[in-house]
Amino acid sequence: MKKIAVIRGDGIGPEIVNGAIKVLDVISKKYNTPFVYTHLLMGGVAIDETGLPLPKETIDICKRSDAVLLGSVGGPKWDKLPGDKRPEAGLLGIRKALEVFANLRPAILFPQLKEASALKPEVLKGNIDIMVIRELTGGIYFGEKSRIDLPSGGQKAWDTMAYSTYEIERIARVGFETARKRTKKLTLVDKANVLETSRLWREIVLKMSADYPDVTLEVQLVDSCAMQLIKNPGQFDTILTENMFGDILSDEASMLTGSLGMLPSASLGNGTLGIYEPIHGSAPDIAGKDIANPIATIMSVAMMLRYSFNMESAAKDIEDAVSKVLDTKYRTVDIMGAGMKCVGTIEMSKLIANEIK
Ligand code: NAD
Repeated sequence: MKKIAVIRGDGIGPEIVNGAIKVLDVISKKYNTPFVYTHLLMGGVAIDETGLPLPKETIDICKRSDAVLLGSVGGPKWDKLPGDKRPEAGLLGIRKALEVFANLRPAILFPQLKEASALKPEVLKGNIDIMVIRELTGGIYFGEKSRIDLPSGGQKAWDTMAYSTYEIERIARVGFETARKRTKKLTLVDKANVLETSRLWREIVLKMSADYPDVTLEVQLVDSCAMQLIKNPGQFDTILTENMFGDILSDEASMLTGSLGMLPSASLGNGTLGIYEPIHGSAPDIAGKDIANPIATIMSVAMMLRYSFNMESAAKDIEDAVSKVLDTKYRTVDIMGAGMKCVGTIEMSKLIANEIK
């Protein structure tokens, strides 16, 4: 039996999570493993019901669970609230509370979706299979921030980026170990020509590379990496980077794969408890219309089976099912192409679940 904390959140969150649960239910039957879901509040819906973006009960139950399945949070309704009261504060809070410092974001271009990619076919030669490893609980999103009124008029605001040796070493280890299981190529992305934090990252990661002689380490500045991802994405395998750079680069990488709606993620700490969520937001512009792509969330559930439950074969079942449904030309509107059959969120989830035999 596995206990899954489910946070559906706001916007398209409930629709995509419902789709992922449909798939989990089929896996549960096939592998004779009961999944017990506890639905919890976080984000805008939690603010409306409890006044807080992350109620204590949500943290407590997540901590006692085997995995957390998360939709997405946020929306225009809550945009005017101060930073620490916004739905996104819940997101940062749960990552911190569960100490999930390593965010794994695979960007894989299914061959069936080459047409949906933002890039020209000649740029997409070879395989696009990139794993972005993003540090998730440090850096500028968590550093000291403030705003003051200036006597001369106007205001001044600041956010601080800070990293300790410990924080860098533990995520770098995930980077090396992950690269080792893939093509053994690791690219550290930083801004060491300008930022002191990046210089510390580079020093530590270069030193640690002596322990991983089988992994080829390259370093690249973040601006150059942003450019190279568009110019020659096939050169990348595993990218290791800090919180904000990883946030931005993984959204960019999603465009290689056709849609933000295709990219899953796993956030892991030292144990097996992880948070699994699509990389996209709550997409308020399409919420409630049954048109959101559930594949990112369904692929996140595959990562849950792989990393938290050690159910590799079940994870593979889901990934194969997604591929088979794409083979049969079914598409949600964000990845639609000529001659394809357009389906909604519910139908796409059903098709994937039905492919798991
Ligand atoms: P977004 O990712 O929600 O949407 C960007 C664009 O991609 C929109 O046009 C949207 O319709 C489309 N899109 C996103 N997911 C899709 C899917 N599954 N299928 C089809 N199309 C999809 O980003 P945004 O519009 O900048 O942010 C909306 C809200 O989400 C904001 O409140 C933001 O703070 C929040 N947000 C939450 C998370 C999270 O919960 N992890 C992450 C990013 C943004």
